[in-house]
Amino acid sequence: MENIYKSDTKRVFLTFDDGPSTVTPKILDILKQENIKVTFFVLGCNVNGKEETLKRMYEEGHYIANHGYTHNYSKIYASVENVLDEYNQCNEVVKNAIGVPEYNSHLFRFPGGLPGGKYAELKKQARELLSQNDVLNVDWNALTGDAETNDLSIEFELTRLSQTTQNKNSIVLLMHDAVTKSVTAEALPQIIATLREEGYEFKNFYDIIK
Ligand SMILES: [Zn+2]
Repeated sequence: MENIYKSDTKRVFLTFDDGPSTVTPKILDILKQENIKVTFFVLGCNVNGKEETLKRMYEEGHYIANHGYTHNYSKIYASVENVLDEYNQCNEVVKNAIGVPEYNSHLFRFPGGLPGGKYAELKKQARELLSQNDVLNVDWNALTGDAETNDLSIEFELTRLSQTTQNKNSIVLLMHDAVTKSVTAEALPQIIATLREEGYEFKNFYDIIK
């Protein structure tokens, strides 16, 4: 994972955080049409009632990774053990939803990202604890800005995409499939087309984590 942002050839990992929600099936439809596999950083508290969506992610070959359970910073970052607990709680609901008892994604994304903020030091320590438990973590190095404003538009997302991907060979692109992010689903065909035109190959973390 340390080398994730380095590559000789152009590649992109599409990632979606904070789902599943009613937006997720729309995203899955587009990905199926485009024949692209992505990574969903699922939030444990959103799984109840969305089991079929998770099953579909799994059956259609996407990577179901882990974004914790609550997304509540004061809870998850109350201690390093809480971070691991939330990883385990999220993993539990995911494996029950998809019906795969041995499922473990081994891949976590810290709510709010790893660096900076008032929990930076705790997150660093939590990262150690996770790695002792065979859990890697990955952030992103580009985004569509779909968490930056409540006034989202396709144009805004495409602009942020081009600004943040410039001169990068290896991209981990942050997007969201939360219920308020229907614009991201609307923008996705153009996001994919833009990346294709620029010569990026679509990759999945399955290619790296065996
Ligand atoms: Zn998040």
